[in-house]
Amino acid sequence: MSHYITPSFEYCPNCGAKTQLKSIEEQQVKTCAAQCGFAHFNNPTPVAAVIVEIPQGVVLAHNVAWPQGMFSIITGFVDPLELPIDTAIRETQEELGLKAYDVKYVGQYMFKAKNQLIIAYSVKAQGKIELNHELDEYKVVPVEKLKGWPGATGEAVSDWIHSIKGSRKTSQS
Ligand SMILES: [Zn+2]
Repeated sequence: MSHYITPSFEYCPNCGAKTQLKSIEEQQVKTCAAQCGFAHFNNPTPVAAVIVEIPQGVVLAHNVAWPQGMFSIITGFVDPLELPIDTAIRETQEELGLKAYDVKYVGQYMFKAKNQLIIAYSVKAQGKIELNHELDEYKVVPVEKLKGWPGATGEAVSDWIHSIKGSRKTSQS
């Protein structure tokens, strides 16, 4: 039995009637109480997350809406008909002003609080960092000092660090 997570659609967007929760094939679905046919299955929203690596390290950014001191890898909603890998490249350009290359898939994670399916990539990037309006601060953490954190994006970072260990032992002595 899955749960209906996101509170939404108190009223039917088709006909304006009240909605109700209904169990359809083991899933909690919001449906129209007037039975006009509307049903909201509350599927996760796909979001691409990008570990952006420049020569000095990995870029972590602060979103204008976040508490001070909180930094993360960049993320962005997948556009209609867009592949998440293309979202990753686009968001690197839009949010940081950097051109991404050498794009690699890292993994998939669930951001449960927001019912978002996080599809994570790592990219190498070049250019001069220019933050867009969503971000107001960034820092560059050397790869050997980078650590993951609890939650979907932090797990992606941990997995990425784990995956590159071994292939990058040359600088440590
Ligand atoms: Zn309706």
